[in-house]
Amino acid sequence: MTLPPQLEAKFMELVNRYPTKRSALVPMLLYAQDAMGHISDEMIAEIARRLDLNTLQVTETLVYYSMLRRKPAGKYHVQVCTNVSCMLRGGYRIYDRVQRKLEIGNKQTTADGMFSLEEVECIGACTGAPALQVNYDFYENLTPVAVDDLIESLDAGHKPAAAACTSGALHPRHPAEVPVISRRFGIPNSRTLEVYLQHDGYKALAKALNQMTPEQVIEEVKKSNLRGRGGAGFPAGVKWSFVPKDTTKPKYILCNADESEPGTCKDRPLMELDPHQLIEGTVIAGRAVGAHQGYIYIRGEYRYVLEIMDAAIAEAYAGGYLGRDIRGSGFDFELCTHTGAGAYECGEESALMESLEGKRGYPRIRPPFPAVVGLYGCPTVINNVETLSSVPAVILNGGEWYANLGSPKNGGTRLFCISGHVSRPGIYELPMGFNLRRMIEEVAGGVPKGKKLKAVIPGGSSCPLLNAEEVDLPMDFDSLAKAGSMLGSGGTVVINEDTCMVDLARRIMHFYAHESCGWCIPCREGTAWLRKMLDRFHDGGGREEDIALIGELSKNMLGRTFCPLGDAAALPTISIVKKWRHEFEEHLKGRCPYRPAEVMAAAL
Ligand code: SF4
Repeated sequence: MTLPPQLEAKFMELVNRYPTKRSALVPMLLYAQDAMGHISDEMIAEIARRLDLNTLQVTETLVYYSMLRRKPAGKYHVQVCTNVSCMLRGGYRIYDRVQRKLEIGNKQTTADGMFSLEEVECIGACTGAPALQVNYDFYENLTPVAVDDLIESLDAGHKPAAAACTSGALHPRHPAEVPVISRRFGIPNSRTLEVYLQHDGYKALAKALNQMTPEQVIEEVKKSNLRGRGGAGFPAGVKWSFVPKDTTKPKYILCNADESEPGTCKDRPLMELDPHQLIEGTVIAGRAVGAHQGYIYIRGEYRYVLEIMDAAIAEAYAGGYLGRDIRGSGFDFELCTHTGAGAYECGEESALMESLEGKRGYPRIRPPFPAVVGLYGCPTVINNVETLSSVPAVILNGGEWYANLGSPKNGGTRLFCISGHVSRPGIYELPMGFNLRRMIEEVAGGVPKGKKLKAVIPGGSSCPLLNAEEVDLPMDFDSLAKAGSMLGSGGTVVINEDTCMVDLARRIMHFYAHESCGWCIPCREGTAWLRKMLDRFHDGGGREEDIALIGELSKNMLGRTFCPLGDAAALPTISIVKKWRHEFEEHLKGRCPYRPAEVMAAAL
């Protein structure tokens, strides 16, 4: 098959990028789709030939990833997010408007082939909600009128400027903020090596390479109480110390940039505005555990971020901060990016490794843990973008300094993404342990239009919800756990008194049912049945016994699945049924107190 020259060059580069050829599979499929509009049988055969696979292996991987298509989409593929943060700020109105404007439904294409439409899950624009993507471009803070303008401009052959930066990342600093990892946000050209070097860039790496032993680097990170910012909160230094020293196998640093937890969009600006900070943290992690190769696995929807990271990596190579004998230290470290293709499950660390190896993102059974048997069967450290971005500050200023910024056992600061019903949605860097009520009222400007606070999702949609009386608590891993919830990924979604909690439970369950990989029965069947029951309940067709059944079904998923997605679906549902049971009971009267009666009737 003869390929366009650019695609041919990309394929050649990808095939030679990884220790095993198959690792190139998902990126090759996505780049092929970008070039050709979809993935044809001929393309499947061509990729299979180049990777020494058979077409069945390629096809079974392809169908797992939601961004990959067997049929062409429109020239402009409009993807509207209706997940919780967007939903709360009118995401469904935006979706309806696009449908009416284009006169097509979900997953349909206009007759002239110009537009196609898809309702999608969280695209990582929560603080700029409601948002959509056209191909890879983000459009945020939309109104129905802005949607009309956007479509009309595209139709006329003019592409309006996309969101230049993650909405909410750049704003006047609130006095309570403690800028550590976001301190270069807002500096012109902050993503360039030149500016990074002007602001203490790569000084921590020099210190780690020239003044510290690997053991001292690990000790400093342990001292800092830096805990995994992806959601689990495991101490980063302890994780690093699990990597065996005496192995002859290669070791890997894997950066998890598959940010997909609804309500969370802070890794996106970290890579977009300060990519060298992430590179520096990743090389220091490599130095600490004796790894010489790193990968940054970036979710497929973040294409422009991937390009920014690639440019920064190229600059770092040119400047001698990556590659052989870094800055004359004798230490070698290679780094490259890797694109996902739409699968929430790949944010789970073992699923992410499977995906990077070119397979479906099914989680692995553990033990063994990745520190011992990880990527390609070798010792691997997997850390989130925010975790690795925090490492340079820890090394430069000392673990004790970093630990003292936060609360006991919860060192440092955190990028909190505050979205939903607040006056100033945004990404704010606050000390660990900052009071949640202050965060909502003072930092994010409180609930607008004089409405009362009803509920908060503290750290991404997999967390049990808090009610308005429970928000006087410190935002750290231990305090949230004590309160029966989780700090998770730091995606704080604020919900006002006008929100229907049954509808919210319904939308959350739609997400997890969509993302369940289907491997284990409690998750596959549980999320599907719960989705159906919550749909029916919200549409006024619920039965009294369903209330207990929804709670019971959720509880039966807890702890019975291979990966945390089963729990992630169950926990918010259990908390909503428990705390807002009266709203389920009100729906039994055949009406949703938060929706006009005619809408309910139409839905039935
Ligand atoms: Fe797949 Fe769900 Fe099981 Fe995780 S819990 S392995 S997503 S079926």
